[in-house]
This record gives sequence, C-alpha cells and structure tokens, in this order.
Amino acid sequence: MDVPAWMRAGAEALMQERDRLNRLDADIGDGDHGANMARGFAAAVERLNGAGDALAPADAMRSVGITLLSKVGGAAGPLYGSFFIGAAGALRDRSADAVDAAAWADALDAAVAGVQRRGKAQAGDKTMLDALFPARDALRAAVGDSVTLADALAASAEAADAGAEATVPLLARKGRASYLGERSIGHQDPGATSSALLLHALAQTWKRPSQ
Ligand code: ADP
Ligand code: MG
Repeated sequence: MDVPAWMRAGAEALMQERDRLNRLDADIGDGDHGANMARGFAAAVERLNGAGDALAPADAMRSVGITLLSKVGGAAGPLYGSFFIGAAGALRDRSADAVDAAAWADALDAAVAGVQRRGKAQAGDKTMLDALFPARDALRAAVGDSVTLADALAASAEAADAGAEATVPLLARKGRASYLGERSIGHQDPGATSSALLLHALAQTWKRPSQ
C-alpha cells in the first residue's frame, strides 16, 4: 500500500472537486467543505513529501491524521483525522508490502470506528458514515469472496458512491446540516461525497503487494 501516492491522488481529486463539494455544503451547511478538504489534504501531502517515501503505512497515516486534525477547521478535519489515526492503529508496524486486502479491511474497520467514536453519528444520519459504512461492508464481503484486490477496492469505492447518493433523501441528524431539519432533505451530503472520492483515489493508486 502506497499511502503517499493515495494522498497525492486524493488531494488532486479533492482540488478538482473543490467547487462541487463547496456547493453541496452550501446547500445544507456553510459552503466550506471543498475548501477545507483541499487545503487539509494538500497540507498532508506536503508533510508526507517532507518525510520521504520510506514511512511505514501506519506512520504515514498517523501523519495525515494529525495534519487534518490540526489544519482543517470545521467538523470534517477532526473526523477525517480520526479516520486516518484509526487506520494507523490497525496497521501498526506492517510494511507497505504486507498490507493486503484483509489487512486493509481491518484498517478500514478501525478507521470507520474512529469516525463514529468522534462524531457519534449512526447509519442514516446523513453524514460521511453513510458512504463509509457501505464501503467498509463491501470491502469485507469482497475479501470474504477472495476477489482480487483491485476488484475489492473498486467494490468498496462503488459502495461509497452509492451510499453518498443515497444520502439525498435523508434528514440530517448530525453536524451543521442538522440545523436545517426537514430542509436538509433532497441534497447530497458533502462529507459522504468526499469519502467516496478518497476511496476511489485509493482504488486507483494501490500498489499490489509482492506475492
Ligand atoms: P462544517 O460542517 O463544520 O462546516 P465541513 O463542511 O468540512 O465542516 O464538513 C461537513 C461534513 O462533515 C458533513 O457533510 C458530514 O458528512 C460530516 N459530519 C458532520 N458531523 C458529523 C458527525 N457527527 N459524524 C460524521 N460526520 C459528520
Ligand atoms: Mg461546512
């Protein structure tokens, strides 16, 4: 697993989609989600570049998590920070080559648990978890079916897309969007959308471990 490559691709996708994410957030929040994410991931990449590519995946993810926690204002920074710090805890001292689909499934479990511990949202609350839960479950199912790593990651990212799209009819129960009550219905959640983007970036950049 090449965390710096994932973060570079993620930062680029978030930069490209910044205005769209801002617009989604303007519909049900304060319009800053794209800017927050683009700035935070650019800072995370800068810090990783400074550390060189030799960092173990867990150390790289911890660095990303700390950067997001400290550099990104709003709800999403600490939540994504918890995501990466949670994943780092599960990967411990595995080398990049030793992170296979099963290890990543464990890490994604821990990452999602980290988001939930911090934000206390449930499935259906119209948050990033509505993309992350199905992504986690699809990855776990794919690993159980022993499909290829590439297919498992693609299935996980596609489940995140479907989950993000399925936030449209939901009533927001957490975060800024919850202040709108019924008026939050009919809009796609920006955080669920950025989660799906990041999982697509991962699917595109994963380097096959040597087998
Ligand atoms: P803010 O709402 O502070 O402006 P952002 O706009 O960057 O922060 O992020 C908003 C996103 O954060 C939402 O779209 C939602 O997905 C996510 N979010 C907000 N609160 C929670 C929570 N308690 N648990 C999980 N995700 C949340
Ligand atoms: Mg916002």
